[in-house]
Amino acid sequence: MRIEEKVKRESRRDPEFARWVRSVAGGEDIRRCIQCGACSSACQLSSYMDYTPRRIINLAREGFKKEVLGSFTIWLCASCYACRAQCPKEIKITDIMYALKRRAIREGTYPARFPTAVMAKEFANMIFSRGRVTENYLVTMLFLKTNWFKFLGMSRLGLGLLRAGRMSFFPDSVKNRSEIKTILNAVDGK
Ligand code: SF4
Ligand code: SF4
Repeated sequence: MRIEEKVKRESRRDPEFARWVRSVAGGEDIRRCIQCGACSSACQLSSYMDYTPRRIINLAREGFKKEVLGSFTIWLCASCYACRAQCPKEIKITDIMYALKRRAIREGTYPARFPTAVMAKEFANMIFSRGRVTENYLVTMLFLKTNWFKFLGMSRLGLGLLRAGRMSFFPDSVKNRSEIKTILNAVDGK
């Protein structure tokens, strides 16, 4: 790598992000990674990812925030734990992926209109605001925010389900929403 490229690469590093990765549950051992690649070999989805699990771990611990939080990899991860089982250093790769997803949602840095990220965000919003998920609302929001044409294509089916009483206009909700918020805020450390 030429010196100019090295300087450019170094300038993209965010030490605060690297520190944060080490502080999340599962991230405490990330510096022990020896870049052996066993995680990438074990991952059935790595060939579809923009960065393999090995590369994501390396980028995350080095503080390459933009690359990590904007990657498809964290959203393609199916949380199967195969990488975790194969890691000789017992690094909790799946837990780190979860933390990266949460941060990408919080900062709105996930790939635009990527269905998995949009669905995760809408799912969390519903739980926070109502304590329950209403599937038809979730699917509607997903299509509206990712693929309008698909939404129009599904509208006939939706109307049919409404007429048959299989779907409701009204979202589900728990009785005491404030209690749910208190619990979730406590889990979040707020
Ligand atoms: S298997 Fe573990 S040690 Fe090897 S590259 Fe992956 S995270 Fe690093
Ligand atoms: S947990 Fe995610 S990264 Fe690890 S092997 Fe499974 S899909 Fe791949």
